[in-house]
Amino acid sequence: MRADATRKDIEAVVRVITELGFKAHVMPGPTRTAIGITGNKDAVDSSHFENMHGVAEAIRVSKPYKLTSLDLKPEKTIVRVGDSSIGEHELAIIAGPCAVESREQTLAVAEVVHKSGAQFFRGGVFKPRTPLTAFQGLGEEGLEILAEVRERYGLKIVTEAVDEHSVELVERYADIIQIGARNMQNFSLLRHAGRARLPILLKRGLGATIDEWLLAAEYVMVEGNYNVILCERGVRTFSQHTEDTLDLAVIPAVRSISHLPLIIDPSHGTGKNYLVAPLARAGAAVGIDGLIVEVNEPPSSTRLNHGQELTPDQYMQMVFDVRAIHEVIIRENGNF
Ligand code: PEP
Ligand code: MN
Repeated sequence: MRADATRKDIEAVVRVITELGFKAHVMPGPTRTAIGITGNKDAVDSSHFENMHGVAEAIRVSKPYKLTSLDLKPEKTIVRVGDSSIGEHELAIIAGPCAVESREQTLAVAEVVHKSGAQFFRGGVFKPRTPLTAFQGLGEEGLEILAEVRERYGLKIVTEAVDEHSVELVERYADIIQIGARNMQNFSLLRHAGRARLPILLKRGLGATIDEWLLAAEYVMVEGNYNVILCERGVRTFSQHTEDTLDLAVIPAVRSISHLPLIIDPSHGTGKNYLVAPLARAGAAVGIDGLIVEVNEPPSSTRLNHGQELTPDQYMQMVFDVRAIHEVIIRENGNF
């Protein structure tokens, strides 16, 4: 739509799309609103819209993903969470332990995260673990601890949901629903997340191509939830010096085809404590919108492998460094 299109203009276009039997997706940007069409099998005749009031252009998106693409929405998506946002000028920092293990541990880490000026707190309560016998998370008891963190420190809560039931629980307690790497192609979970009212942090699968990742985001968005944040968390390679290989090139690559905000997870993306801060700094240099990073209070419990978690001191230094780099990048290049 044109920048001066009114709400009435937008409603009229939505009506035409609905009458044609398709689904309309109204996606507002900072200056212009884009309206996506899904549900059509063949090309939609653009003459339906071309002469309507407020319409700037009717374009055909030939890629398999549509709602995620820059062709449809040339303006970057800013995901707003209360008074915080992801995708705007400020670097979004999401930090906390891998898992909520106890109230004491979680509140101690939250104090560090709060002190760093981060806007978001992470901590898993539903843990998708490869070994069947590994700690699976505290479930709803953990969500109550996270709610206390929000209450006490004003931090927005990011936590993972692993199935439909946990989406509903997380929705009740948290601010952003994380979909983990192992669930990136769990299509029924994605559709369910698309019906949630909270933004979705969608991790890239361990072997997912860009197309597969964007198509996964499409499953969420087609249900009407356009607040998707993409998170690069490392892919599986032959490298032996890291757990997974953080693919930093994917940030500018996806940036050139999608309007969704992009963050990295240097903790799982390296799996090694000493590599987390250097890769976080590199991420800031390639233009991320934020990062999700694991920090925990030592000595921590032995229930989880803490190989990638930062100590509070390491974390504070990292935050200082990535902010400084981000500021330079924004000053030189503007908001990507
Ligand atoms: C996590 O964030 O703790 C996690 C398990 O992430 P991923 O799905 O990227 O492995
Ligand atoms: Mn973890």
